[in-house]
Amino acid sequence: MAEAFRIGRYKVHRIEEWQGGFSPPEALFAEFEAQAFAQVADAFEPDCLREGMIYGYLQSWLIDTGDMRVLVDTGAGNGKQRPGIPIFGDLDTGFLSRLADGGYSPEDIDTVFCTHLHIDHVGWNTQLQDGEWVPTFPNATYCLPAVDDSAWNPDGDQYRTMSGAQVNANVYEDSVVPVLASGRCRLVNDGEAIGAGMTAVHAPGHTPGHMVLEVCDDGDMALFTGDILHHPMQVYRPDWNSVYCEDRSQAAETRLKVLNRAANNDARIVPAHFGAPHSIFVERLPNGRFRPQNAIPIQGG
Ligand SMILES: [Zn+2]
Repeated sequence: MAEAFRIGRYKVHRIEEWQGGFSPPEALFAEFEAQAFAQVADAFEPDCLREGMIYGYLQSWLIDTGDMRVLVDTGAGNGKQRPGIPIFGDLDTGFLSRLADGGYSPEDIDTVFCTHLHIDHVGWNTQLQDGEWVPTFPNATYCLPAVDDSAWNPDGDQYRTMSGAQVNANVYEDSVVPVLASGRCRLVNDGEAIGAGMTAVHAPGHTPGHMVLEVCDDGDMALFTGDILHHPMQVYRPDWNSVYCEDRSQAAETRLKVLNRAANNDARIVPAHFGAPHSIFVERLPNGRFRPQNAIPIQGG
């Protein structure tokens, strides 16, 4: 499988776990406005919208620097019990065989970086072996956001305040605890280096500890943005949150900040759930709004 793109000398592969119709747009976006969506909806067909449903992916990104292999986000995982979001429960996908198609085995991964600790970003952290959840990538250091680790721990005080606790049921127990117990976990804070040219940047709102992985090499920059953006509609409307965003005003503020950072640096935005082309560049319009590069202009910009 050919690489998806490069960041300087670094090769990046897209490892797909799942694709499908996820939900109608009005059910995904907390601030949905039908008229604004209709203005650009045609441009989303069929990769990001099909038959009135938001079409989405679960995908991981593998950055190969030549010296180090970093896997960004780990999807939903196989065989997990997900009463809060059955669509991602008890999956049986060929994620690891697609990793193998890219030329990599689980043993090759040096670092796993989870942008946040939601169900669809930590799943392959572990796999079931002899009835126990064990780390899937035996040689990897798992970099998890420290702030999210506190927030999502069911034994902590903050957990009771998390609106996503029901959707995220079981996730901390089967996909985070075994990694912590293995001694392979590194809890990461804002500004810490993950590898050469790679920095974890706190980007809160979707979850309290959400992080963006900024990767620079040879004058190129890419921002691995996790769920700062779920869908390209949010490039046009950064004020639209998903219903899964914990703190909506903070999430919208962070989204705008990330879009500005990408536009100012001509950086590629690499999200977790976008349909083809799966990653995008954005441009800032004179009126301060944004659009994906090469997108058709829309009325009112
Ligand atoms: Zn997600």
